[in-house]
Amino acid sequence: MAGRTGFFPTPFPGEILYSLCARYHRLSANSNIRTTQSEISCTKEFFGFSDIPAGTECLLTNTALGTAIGLDHLIQHNTSFPYYFPYLNSVQIEKCRQRLCTTDTTKSLGFAIGLKYQLRGKYCSRCIEEDKLNTGQSYWHLSHQLPGVLICPLHRVPLRIAEQTWLKRSLPSLILPDSPSVESHSWIPDLQRINALLDEISLISAKSLTSSTPLSIPAFLDYNSINQKNLWDASKLIGSLPRLGEYESLSLTTMGYLSKSIFGLLHRDHLYHRPLEYILLTAVARLM
Ligand SMILES: [Zn+2]
Repeated sequence: MAGRTGFFPTPFPGEILYSLCARYHRLSANSNIRTTQSEISCTKEFFGFSDIPAGTECLLTNTALGTAIGLDHLIQHNTSFPYYFPYLNSVQIEKCRQRLCTTDTTKSLGFAIGLKYQLRGKYCSRCIEEDKLNTGQSYWHLSHQLPGVLICPLHRVPLRIAEQTWLKRSLPSLILPDSPSVESHSWIPDLQRINALLDEISLISAKSLTSSTPLSIPAFLDYNSINQKNLWDASKLIGSLPRLGEYESLSLTTMGYLSKSIFGLLHRDHLYHRPLEYILLTAVARLM
């Protein structure tokens, strides 16, 4: 087992673990990444932007962070586990906990808890400015990385999104949002037409990080009084979402598909549905 590092930064509220490793690398002034990797005995990608990062416990064991905070605190405040938790059964929760406490990163958790492709490396330029002003450092925010979130829940402006292939290649370099090459490899999607819905999704998603109860199916989808006009209105709203990231895979573009999907939510156990589907329907209900 590696010894504890002499110091390790304390995570900022809602900072992902990859960001924490990147800040450690920057603050330690290590001349190369391998030194940092060896010091904290971390995987090559330093957790990447993983929702439920394998080896979280090792970060506490191998660094001075372990003397400052406990595993539960780190899981609750610096991973996406609380976002998924209300929608998981006991078997899935156990799988998540096992993953958080293992260094075996070869087994994917995606299928077990219904994770799908997600956009990663999202950030808000205004958050960066404020973070640097308040803390002297920039960091990757958990609330920005959640599925379907394209708007900053704090500043209500579109997030910048890193080019996904570039991001994957660059993760081992421990980049932070203000690293020199990040801005030139990121872009802001044009979201003006659909800002209101995306805004709601962003706010509900951020709130889901601190809520222990799952969202319920909105009243307008009550099986006993389902209204075709409401379905049509909801379908139009959802159909106008950008063909981007998680919304590409939802493909809720036709009323037929939307109806089928909604009835699926109503009649099947929700265990294999991601929170995003509930968040999306709740956001739609608020705008109808
Ligand atoms: Zn912001």
